[in-house]
Amino acid sequence: MTYKAVILGAGPGGAVLARDLAQNGIDVTIFEQNTFKQLGHDWSDAVEVSALKAAGLEMPTLKGLQWKGSLVKEMPGGSGVFEKHAVPRLRVYSPGKKSYKDIEFKMITTDRRRLSQVLVEQAEAAGAEIKYRHRGKGLLFRESGTETLEGLEVYGLTVQNIETGEEIKAEADIVIESSGFQSILRKSLPAYSGLADPFEPGDFALVHREVRPYRPETEAEIIEPGSAAEIIPDHYRYGYNTGYQWTHIHNEEQIDVGAGVKSDLPGVDPKDIIEDFIADHPAIKEGQIRGGRSLCIVGRPLTNFVARGFIVIGDAASTSVPTTGCGAGSAIYAGLWGAEVIIEAAAEERNDLEKLWAINRKFYLESHRGPSFAALSELRIMLQTLTHEELDFLYSQDLLDAVTLQNAVNGCFTPPGFAKKLKSLRGGLARPSILVKLNRAITSAARVYGHCRNYPPAWDAEAYRQWKARL
Ligand SMILES: Cc1cc2nc3c(=O)[nH]c(=O)nc-3n(C[C@H](O)[C@H](O)[C@H](O)COP(=O)(O)OP(=O)(O)OC[C@H]3O[C@@H](n4cnc5c(N)ncnc54)[C@H](O)[C@@H]3O)c2cc1C
Repeated sequence: MTYKAVILGAGPGGAVLARDLAQNGIDVTIFEQNTFKQLGHDWSDAVEVSALKAAGLEMPTLKGLQWKGSLVKEMPGGSGVFEKHAVPRLRVYSPGKKSYKDIEFKMITTDRRRLSQVLVEQAEAAGAEIKYRHRGKGLLFRESGTETLEGLEVYGLTVQNIETGEEIKAEADIVIESSGFQSILRKSLPAYSGLADPFEPGDFALVHREVRPYRPETEAEIIEPGSAAEIIPDHYRYGYNTGYQWTHIHNEEQIDVGAGVKSDLPGVDPKDIIEDFIADHPAIKEGQIRGGRSLCIVGRPLTNFVARGFIVIGDAASTSVPTTGCGAGSAIYAGLWGAEVIIEAAAEERNDLEKLWAINRKFYLESHRGPSFAALSELRIMLQTLTHEELDFLYSQDLLDAVTLQNAVNGCFTPPGFAKKLKSLRGGLARPSILVKLNRAITSAARVYGHCRNYPPAWDAEAYRQWKARL
């Protein structure tokens, strides 16, 4: 028998998954609504170095503050995957810029159009079929009548050819939803599956970023903190307007300026935040070179990614870092794990819930991602209730210290130890109400983290029901 996989969406998650399936002789087709040239985004994202390495990309090496390697853009606007300027350390400012911490930044600035194209080229070279300009509409599934997850079987999807209008029913042994936060496929399943819940407005940030010409004319424009002309090199202003604002230098001529805020925050537009920043920094010039804006998923990850014949990965499963919205790395990891799970299932000609459960195990038990992201989601919600002044205080007292910020920015949650809690207590005495809030959030996040570490290792309807209810 031919084991056949179909994937909706040629983002980084779907492309890596297709590549690895095809390399292992599994018949795989991706349906993608865009064209090859439109893949990804017209800007460069900070993507986890470890994920890109795990995907097998030839990673550059660091020489001072520059990346060197075959995939690095040789000149501004070049065709490489990685921008030249490296950000091994990132300066994280409090919202009022009253204090800052320098942290290790485990990301590399990556051209998201080129990255998507390279990964899709690899998938095609391995034998995957990509059908562009096809829009997914919903899943084909059967129900046993028991109204339970185990009574549900996905056996394909419906897609529409955007050019001709023709509707196609594509049957398959396994369907992978990798279509980003719109998650059109899983939402077509019945509510009792637990997979169909829509994301809420509070699960999103609205993010705007622009690549601008960058011509610092004086030393002061580059390094002198506090001057009107200051360019703060490679910084986050974390907690600003319920989100953050940043700059990342790309090369000697271009800089990425961006901001994100809670998507349902009335009257605050991230574009205005960056316009204000640019107005204060004359080394950033007029004229957008690249850029765009969109919602960005920052909610808690799904608690289950599978049904019989079906897997959800990437933004469709809300696996981005809740404290930054960086999701390309997680989508790549999910693509790699999804391929491993499907290859093993296909070898036994299986696609059942028990077999596919392995991807949940990888996310919640074998990696820190599930527990960390669920816990960071708790922290994010609390931090978004604090004023700038309160956040400035937490930074200045080191209650939000470099380790906590470094972990939050890089997508890790480390439950604070006893000594650290005591330190928090001493520093917070001047503002007991904030201390109570912070302690409550950290305790709650730590409990969520611990609970996720007890995720059911194998499919067991009752164990999963109880685990989810307790979460
Ligand atoms: C402004 C902004 C800035 C960001 N910055 C960063 C960053 O710095 N670092 C980072 O790691 N992440 C960042 N992200 C998030 C990142 O883009 C996503 O987390 C990542 O792309 C998720 O990958 P994915 O494969 O799950 O989905 P996507 O990359 O969203 O890919 C989904 C694919 O599915 C296709 N598709 C969608 N619906 C359908 C349909 N119905 N039929 C057919 N095809 C469909 C889409 O066209 C797309 O090609 C940012 C996002 C935004 C909006």
